[in-house]
Amino acid sequence: MNKEVIFNDDGEYIASTYARFKVAFERGEGSRLYDTDGREYIDCATGIGVNIFGVCDDEWKKAVMSQLDKIQHTSNLYYSLPQTELAKLLCEKTGAKKVFFANSGAEANECAIKTARKYGNLKYGRNEIITLKNSFHGRTMATLSATGQDAFHKYFDPFLGGFKYAEPDIDGVIECYTDKTCAVMVECIQGESGVHVLDFGFLRQLEKFCRERDILLICDEVQCGNGRTGRMYAYEHAGIRPDIVTTAKGLGGGLPIGACMMFEKCEHTFTYGDHGSTFGGNPVACAGAVSIVRRITDELLLEVQGKGAYMIENLKRIKNVRSVSGLGLMIGVECAKPAREIAEKCLEKGLIVLTAHDKVRLLPPLNISKSEMEQAIKILNEVISK
Ligand SMILES: *Cc1c(COP(=O)(O)O)cnc(C)c1O
Repeated sequence: MNKEVIFNDDGEYIASTYARFKVAFERGEGSRLYDTDGREYIDCATGIGVNIFGVCDDEWKKAVMSQLDKIQHTSNLYYSLPQTELAKLLCEKTGAKKVFFANSGAEANECAIKTARKYGNLKYGRNEIITLKNSFHGRTMATLSATGQDAFHKYFDPFLGGFKYAEPDIDGVIECYTDKTCAVMVECIQGESGVHVLDFGFLRQLEKFCRERDILLICDEVQCGNGRTGRMYAYEHAGIRPDIVTTAKGLGGGLPIGACMMFEKCEHTFTYGDHGSTFGGNPVACAGAVSIVRRITDELLLEVQGKGAYMIENLKRIKNVRSVSGLGLMIGVECAKPAREIAEKCLEKGLIVLTAHDKVRLLPPLNISKSEMEQAIKILNEVISK
């Protein structure tokens, strides 16, 4: 297929919500992608943190294909082995008690918001949720309302009430706190707004603050979860225990899935009819996710930590790099030049990177090889230092 035809038809038929890079990928293998001209690229974007073990990974593919050979969908009117397997695995790995399956990060967060409101309303008549400035929680009306960035809010009012945006420190949270506060929702590493790692001391203070008032602590691990930062979930770095954890992106290894994990405080908050989803917990997506979660072992996490440290150290050495933030293989690079320009130049040289606000963002596959990392750093060096 001629790429110009794809570009033209996209312009004509696809809603123009994306400022796409001028490339169409056709296939791939691990950390390498190939476009419609057969050009090779190193992938440090993984479809925004989704293809967590790269493209066409054998183990993941086998799990997905073997489920496809059995049944592709059943609805949530019936029991499902892939769903229970995945829920059990997630609970064993985190200490969560119950899981609700959705299809995306936004939907996982919708579930968390509903859980927190029911918990607060039933017990105390509380229904306000504090989120943080520069957070990102999704594009649905509720998760957009929860998102603490004005840029996403233009033109879409009126918003869902009951959200307050705090500065990311304990004083900021206290300022937003009222006797109506039922939950605080945070991304331990704010991805979309520029890979900001929240202060672990703040997170521990926040956990204590919430626990003392029976306020639910929600961690949005949609992007930073599932081994991405060198821990199963990023909140583990701070040594805190949330009451609700949401995740998506990497969980499915490439298929759409979202999960909302409830810990003991709110494991019984939902009862029959409180929430649901037609596609949520689709058996093919769950079978893929089971194979992913099984592979996130302590050994793999150590590898991710090592690779992350290697990348960050080498990125810091590049001329014109102002700062490098992140943990594990979730990395933000602040440069002298605009991030979009760098991303485009990288693409020309065969490297796929993301941007996040003013930063270049790297989310490579967790199983990227040393030589592929070296190649990525070499291209970044050429582009950034020039
Ligand atoms: C991507 C993202 C979301 C939204 O996920 P979708 O699957 O696009 O709905 C929510 N929260 C965070 C932290 C994210 O990075």
